[in-house]
Amino acid sequence: MGKYVIMGIQGSGKGTQAKLLAADYDLIHLSMGEVFRAHIHNGTHLGQTIRDLVAGGHLVSDGIVNQVLRTRLDETDCQRGFVLDGYPRNLTQAAFLLELVPLDGVINVTVPDEVVTARMLARRLCDDCGRDWNLQAHAPRVPGVCDDCGGAIVAREDDTPSAIASRLADFHTQTAPVLDLFREHDLVIDIDGTQPPAQVQDQIRRKLGLTVS
Ligand SMILES: [Zn+2]
Repeated sequence: MGKYVIMGIQGSGKGTQAKLLAADYDLIHLSMGEVFRAHIHNGTHLGQTIRDLVAGGHLVSDGIVNQVLRTRLDETDCQRGFVLDGYPRNLTQAAFLLELVPLDGVINVTVPDEVVTARMLARRLCDDCGRDWNLQAHAPRVPGVCDDCGGAIVAREDDTPSAIASRLADFHTQTAPVLDLFREHDLVIDIDGTQPPAQVQDQIRRKLGLTVS
């Protein structure tokens, strides 16, 4: 039982860590990206609103994002605890969350920019079946060829060094004030995300004071 937020840049491994933690402690892994996709897929009123905004090239406002979050947190499965992933993305959302629910901790998975950049530059995608590969962590048996379907392995279009640098800069600009606010509330534990995943998870549990089940 616990109510946690996990933060970290794309490529920090935070999604994997959130899943590991949620599985062992019977928490919901609350990925905001998945919650949004479910609204759109199920054609809810909020889903329709979001779809219209995105189709019109508009950003989804904090008000709508917060409403999506509150609706999801009201569901009974979240009462036993959650690991919130992909929210809050800015100070307005963070302040809303602090008002909404008493948090037990904020897990900040840190990875130096150059390490995240190298991880992203190593990402590949099968051009045929869409399977994800990574030349560092998870390379195909034959270089450049998908193990599953024999398709060609290619880089993602948005994984160029300049696009990655711009995503990193945006991330730091947006999350710095969020982390500052959470630190004022003594909620943040900093976790070294460069270690192997099992060790990262160990460090998270120790710093959160969780008993290993
Ligand atoms: Zn393939």
